[in-house]
Amino acid sequence: MSRGTLATVDIKALKHNLNTIRQHAPNSKIWAVVKANGYGHGAVSVAQVLTSLADGFAVSTFVEALELQQAGIDRPILLLEGCVTLDQTREAISRNMEMVIHNEIQLDWLKHIDNLSSQKIWLKIDTGMHRLGLSPETGRLWAAKLMREHGCKVAYITHFACADTPEHPFNQHQLDSFTPFTIQTDCEFSMANSAAIFSLPQSLGDWVRPGIALYGASPFSDKSAQQLNLIPAMTLTAPVIAIHQIPKGQHVGYGANWCAERNSTIATLAIGYGDGYPRHAGNGTPTWINGHIAPVVGRVSMDMLTIDITNIAGIDIGDDVELWGKNLSVDHVATHVSTIGYELLTRLSARIERVYN
Ligand SMILES: *Cc1c(COP(=O)(O)O)cnc(C)c1O
Repeated sequence: MSRGTLATVDIKALKHNLNTIRQHAPNSKIWAVVKANGYGHGAVSVAQVLTSLADGFAVSTFVEALELQQAGIDRPILLLEGCVTLDQTREAISRNMEMVIHNEIQLDWLKHIDNLSSQKIWLKIDTGMHRLGLSPETGRLWAAKLMREHGCKVAYITHFACADTPEHPFNQHQLDSFTPFTIQTDCEFSMANSAAIFSLPQSLGDWVRPGIALYGASPFSDKSAQQLNLIPAMTLTAPVIAIHQIPKGQHVGYGANWCAERNSTIATLAIGYGDGYPRHAGNGTPTWINGHIAPVVGRVSMDMLTIDITNIAGIDIGDDVELWGKNLSVDHVATHVSTIGYELLTRLSARIERVYN
């Protein structure tokens, strides 16, 4: 039997969001990014939903890719961080996974593999973010070597540091640094994450790599998902499991951190930081119930949290409260807890039951 605390994933919303992305990048193929368990939505399920709509799936690691293949996903898969050992490299290639090569060690592993002809290798070029990648000069040398000596197909990939701030001059700097790679007509390239898909059309290229937009959250702090024609894919709900009348002056929760300033009605919900709801969500963090916003009061516990429903009529035990989703955007909740929607979604724990409809 279910505890009743659910992440309900809207299949139509996932498809709608992918179509919205297509409209912005009609000439690009789409790597649907399903790393980190599909941003908390369930990587395998998301990949199943999008299998005929996306051109492939991007994950961070070999283990994530393996999970998809073992679940029967047979679309192209890209490892965004590449492999971490020679054995893994061998296994990934034998499984037809496409991989990023971003450092010399990974390149060495590749050289130990016998037949690389027609294998596509994504060379990661560091255009200024300085997190992963080869300098443009090294990238050019390696590309030539891989193609000439190993018969590989080479494609180029880079990543924006500031695409969520389209007017930031660093975007043009990165575009310029990548130009030597984008003008090679015989090699594919990929630059754009969600933010760039919506704001930097000159970056679209052969493949785009949307993550957060697929899930219906906004990559921008100043533009809502709705403004981007994206629909929230996940609605996170928890049932009310207790309701208490708290007299003025009484405290609620650990640390007696919240004090009733009036006679209050407090509902306890079956969700806490053990489910991935942020413990640092302070008094006033919004939840949504029956068309009203109800603020979190008192500290978030491991399995429960408390909300103030004093002015909301008709709430009973068993009623569902939305923590984020269709009525309360994850981006809005995220601003209340000083983070971004990405983090709230990806931190949802395995204890949360995912349902798809
Ligand atoms: C996670 C990731 C993406 C997707 O980013 P979003 O902002 O979620 O669209 C794209 N490319 C790389 C290399 C990534 O690591």
